[in-house]
Amino acid sequence: MQWAHMLQKCGPHSIPKSGDMNIFGGDACELCEAARMSEWFFEDDECWIAECESCGVPMVVWRTHDPHPPEDVKQRLHDKLEIVVDTHFEFEMRIDDNMRTIPDHYHAHARPKGGFYGHGLRRKN
Ligand SMILES: [Zn+2]
Ligand SMILES: [Zn+2]
Repeated sequence: MQWAHMLQKCGPHSIPKSGDMNIFGGDACELCEAARMSEWFFEDDECWIAECESCGVPMVVWRTHDPHPPEDVKQRLHDKLEIVVDTHFEFEMRIDDNMRTIPDHYHAHARPKGGFYGHGLRRKN
C-alpha cells in the first residue's frame, strides 16, 4: 500500500506535524516510491501515468527526480497524458503542473476543465 500514510491513524505517537508533508522522513520521495506501483495506464522510458490516489485524476510523472524537465520533454509528457485521458476517460481535461505537495519531482495532473478532483469521473470501457 504505497499511499498508506494518507490513511495513517493519529495515535499518541504518530500525530503528523501540521504542514509536514514528508511523513516518510529523510529524503524519500513519494513519486519515486510510487514508481513501484503496478497499476499504470501507461509507461515508457521517460515517464509513467497512473491515477493520483489523492485527486482521483490521471497524472503523468517524469522518471527523473527533478522539478524542471526540458521543454521538449515536458511537451511529450503532456501529449502522452492527453492520449491516456482520451483513451480511458470521457472528460475534457486541462493540464495542471502546479506541483503543490511534491515540488521537487516533475509531475502533471489531468484535471477536468473547471474542476480539481476527479473522483467518479466516467471511464470508457
Ligand atoms: Zn522523486
Ligand atoms: Zn493529485
